[in-house]
Amino acid sequence: MDLSYILNELGEDREQYFRAISPPIMQTSNFAFKKVDELRKVFEDEFSTYLYSRGLNPTVDILRQKLAALDEAEDCLVFNSGASAIFASVFSNVQSGDHIVSVRNPYTWAQKMFDNILPRFGISTTYIDGTNIENFERAILPNTRIIYLESPNSWDFVLQDLQAVADLARAENIITICDNSYCTPLYQRPIAMGIDMVLQSATKFIGGHSDVVAGVLSGTRQMMKKIFDNELLNMGNGITPFNAWLLIRGLRTLPVRLERISATTIKVVEYLKNHPQVEEVIFPFDPSFPQYDLARKQMTGACGLLTIVMNAEKMQQIVTFCESLRHILMAVSWGGHESLAIPRCASILPENFDAGNRAHKMIRFYVGLEDPDYLIADFEQAFAKSR
Ligand SMILES: *Cc1c(COP(=O)(O)O)cnc(C)c1O
Repeated sequence: MDLSYILNELGEDREQYFRAISPPIMQTSNFAFKKVDELRKVFEDEFSTYLYSRGLNPTVDILRQKLAALDEAEDCLVFNSGASAIFASVFSNVQSGDHIVSVRNPYTWAQKMFDNILPRFGISTTYIDGTNIENFERAILPNTRIIYLESPNSWDFVLQDLQAVADLARAENIITICDNSYCTPLYQRPIAMGIDMVLQSATKFIGGHSDVVAGVLSGTRQMMKKIFDNELLNMGNGITPFNAWLLIRGLRTLPVRLERISATTIKVVEYLKNHPQVEEVIFPFDPSFPQYDLARKQMTGACGLLTIVMNAEKMQQIVTFCESLRHILMAVSWGGHESLAIPRCASILPENFDAGNRAHKMIRFYVGLEDPDYLIADFEQAFAKSR
């Protein structure tokens, strides 16, 4: 399907709402029926029509059609956070006694689910280095139900060979789930590579303006119905109509935003690579990246997030650098209009800082929509203060 068609037309029927260009926010909790027979039908299958906005809602449906088409999936569900999408995708497919294989260091709240919640139900997780397919083969047990992937990882951008993992999992009858937040479906389509379910935090690039928290999960119609009928309706963690409307608005400009950010990211990477106070720049589309060939093979783009290892002997230099940035904000998340920085040492007690440990000297940047020279000047003055 044509990208322009998906973002500008798909799912939108203007005859239903006075030919308004922007679709209405269908701000209603419930929908009225004229016939008992119709009510009976929707009670049997709530995934079939509008009954109550904890389930289906027309504004959310416009968004669902667009997001599923972008993922080349049969269907998708939109949640009130990316963490919700992660939880629903995993929880819906495990039972007591099952085993999960996950890549090492997945997104924080995926890891907390594996470590703190699922063990209470007798579900265990093995973490592996996902850069080598043999590690997956070795970790699979007779009771392995899910392989959980995140490619690229959002700190060090480590990848998995999605096609190879999908082929292995299919042969073993294991469900594959991939967190695709970094790439979005514009730069990587895991379902086309054989992955069963793909998810992303829509808070990031899809929303794009740092004003909404949401998550998307895509897969087969059958799988989405199973999760809708159980986890989504029970936890009530679907997106609200207003937030769905914000995401529809975000989607209109997604390709231009990514194009702009991609161009700026290249300039920022070049600047940082040549800076004496930077030991290393980690970015999947830089030729120095250890999995550069795989990145080029399975991703059609990369932008925004990158990490440096700062050339610092003391933690104070990293602290001074981050606190001296005037325009680049210190904050979690990414994908919005504003550039961001977040130092790893914020998660380390000062007395445990080890300058010999490369990870302790990492600072992750997100490149937003500002002018590249404006950002580089900000880096320059902050580096000067932290010498
Ligand atoms: C932010 C993020 C999530 C979680 O999404 P929320 O919308 O914050 O719940 C999941 N995965 C990755 C890689 C993320 O960056």
